[in-house]
Formats: sequence, C-alpha cells, structure tokens
Amino acid sequence: MNTYGRFPLELVRGRGVWVWDHNGKRYLDCVAGIAVCTLGHSSGVMRRQLGRQLGKLQHVSNLYRIPEQEQLAAWITANSCTDTVFFCNSGAEANEAAIKLARKHGRIARGIGSTSSETPIILTAQASFHGRTLAAVTATGQPKYHQGFEPMVQGFQYFPYNDIAAFEALLSRSEAAGPRVAAVMLEPLQGEGGVHPGNPAFFQRVRELCSQKNILLIFDEVQVGVGRSGCLWGYQKLGVEPDAITLAKGLGGGFPIGALAVKSSVDHFQPGEHASTFGGNPLACRAALTVAEEVSRRQLPAHVEAMGVLLQKLLSELVSRHPGQLEGVRGWGLLQGLVLRPEAPAAIELVKAAMDQGLLVVPAGPQVVRFVPPLVIQPRHLRKAVARLERALISLG
Ligand SMILES: *Cc1c(COP(=O)(O)O)cnc(C)c1O
Repeated sequence: MNTYGRFPLELVRGRGVWVWDHNGKRYLDCVAGIAVCTLGHSSGVMRRQLGRQLGKLQHVSNLYRIPEQEQLAAWITANSCTDTVFFCNSGAEANEAAIKLARKHGRIARGIGSTSSETPIILTAQASFHGRTLAAVTATGQPKYHQGFEPMVQGFQYFPYNDIAAFEALLSRSEAAGPRVAAVMLEPLQGEGGVHPGNPAFFQRVRELCSQKNILLIFDEVQVGVGRSGCLWGYQKLGVEPDAITLAKGLGGGFPIGALAVKSSVDHFQPGEHASTFGGNPLACRAALTVAEEVSRRQLPAHVEAMGVLLQKLLSELVSRHPGQLEGVRGWGLLQGLVLRPEAPAAIELVKAAMDQGLLVVPAGPQVVRFVPPLVIQPRHLRKAVARLERALISLG
C-alpha cells in the first residue's frame, strides 16, 4: 500500500557502513535503517551466527522454553536496571505491552478503576513518538499522526517535554479528584520529534513524583537504547532509573525484535495476559544476542561516545562555515541532529541532495537532518560524511 513517500532509490547490497544501489553506486549510510543496523550491514559475525541458527532452529513458539531468549533476557537484565523481559517484534508492539502493563499497574498499585467511571491515565510528552499501532500512536503526542484515525484510545494526556512546571500542573489537575495517573511514558531523547535530548533535572523531578505516588515510569528506549546514546541505555545519560524500558530498533541489528524490560516490582503480567506468536523466537534472539555480545565485547558505548564527540565537532564546524543555512547541532552519541534555519531549504531537500553526493541521512521533522549511522562507524567515515553533506549544502545554493 502507498504508506510511504519513498525516495527513488533501490538498495541491493551492504557491507559495514556502505550500501550499493542497483546501478552499483555506493552510499555512506548514516541512516542504518533508521537507527537499526547496530553492527553495520552484513557483518561477518551476524552472517556466521544467523547462518548457524538457521541450520539449528528458527521458531517453536512461546509454548516452550527458548534458550536463546533466556540468554538474551539475562544479558538485558544483567546490564540494566530491569529484572524481567517480554519479547515482541517492534517498537510499537513493545509500547503496546508497556501500555497494558501501565493499566494493570494503575489497578494494582494505585487502586484505579475500582468504580467503573474511573479511567487510568497515561501521561506522555508533546512531540513524542511511540509508534503507529492505535494505542502507541495515541501515546504519540503529535496531532498530525492522529488525524483521520479518530476515535483515539482513551486515557492519554500530554504535556510539553522537559517542562517541569507544566508536568506538575497536569499531574495535579489529573489527580484532583483522586488517583488516576497509572504511568508516565517518555523518550530519554526525542528522536523522530526533532532530536531533543531530555533534561536531567526534568527527568529527576518526574522520577521523584512517580516514586512518591507509585506511578509507573516507562522510558521508550526504542531509538536511543543499546548503545546509541554513548551509554548502553539512554536513562544512564540522564542519571535517572525508570521502572520499565521498551526496546526495538537497534536491538536486533536489522532483524525485527522488540522488548519490554521491567523491574520485578512492576512485573504484573500473569500467564495468558499478554502474548506474541513470533516474539522472542530463536532466530530473532540469536540476532539480538549477537548484537549484545558485540556491543559488550567491543565496548561500543564508549566508541559511540567518542564518535559522537567527533561528529558534533565536525557538524559544529560546518555550522560555523554556513551560518546562513545552519543553526546548530544537538544530540547524544550517534544520534545527532543538524538543525537548519527556517529560511534554509527544508531538511528533506538537503537529504535528497546528500543522496546525490553518496550520503544517506534522514529528516527528523521539517528542519532537522538526523545522523544515526551504524555504531561501528569510524572517524574517516564521519569526516567523509560531513564533507559530502557540505557538498550537498553548497549544491542547494
Ligand atoms: C521508531 C520508534 C518507535 C516505533 O518503532 P516501530 O518498530 O516502528 O514500531 C517507537 N518509539 C520510538 C522512540 C521510536 O523511535
């Protein structure tokens, strides 16, 4: 169906940070399938490990124990503030699981819903992005994604991101007549919404209020998680621990997998209450385990931090050479946004011009060009990427 405004580009092969189109033209890939291809394209270790798993077992269903899934859950919980994991296949699906958990948490921990007129409320941020299924898109605080699909799911309210006063006001308004707020769901850094990093003071205050009132605090780490921020998890960047995190994009390195990981204190699901046929199958978990082992073994978060510092420096220098078109740079690690001036060409025009120069980048809103390359990218690639972007900028005049 015609759900994507696609670029007229057909990619047929990839290796590391490079991809080739059907004419043999080579592109430096700073999109990585939108923050997905953690280890780059067609890496040796992914080919070996997935090949071996294909020769062994692909899918059996969650009726049975799955050792690859147990190992992956062990890696996530050993390396995060969480204790237990549910596996699914995408970011939206992970957030759906978190939303169901939030409603159950509201009933158990806050006594919401004891009378039929009480609705559990989930607070989310304006300009957020949580996916396209009906509840996830309702959680997404961007009206343009709701238009034409009403009625939306009940029980969501929105506040401006990083705004302590507005958050406190909404919370007390929502709770004026008794407990109603079951959960708060936030991205540690807003990716699709324009690459806006979270403010640590704001997140600390949200954490305090959620702890005081026993409100579930969920971080959507679908884009920032698994090393992209320069820490393994985005919450480490903020110094604030959530009760639950959702993961997807970079987790499988290009193989579809999502996860909801939670602290044992909010591990409320009972057998039969939530499920996914494909979720956490041996092949998907082998892909994610391979990513996990490489992220740990190669200490990719530290590498990402260093590459992020370099990319920010190169982009800042670009901004100072083109002050009429460029406004600044913001982001964490290998999730950086180059902000264009309102009078400059739209981000999409620069993205198209970059493609002509053999560079793939992706817009994040109308005025931001986003860099989300594979985490294994090296300094020489970053220099080449910024040089190509500069040529694209100049070509636009
Ligand atoms: C991409 C994204 C999603 C949606 O993930 P899908 O796998 O496309 O469903 C949810 N949350 C955030 C923060 C994302 O960046």
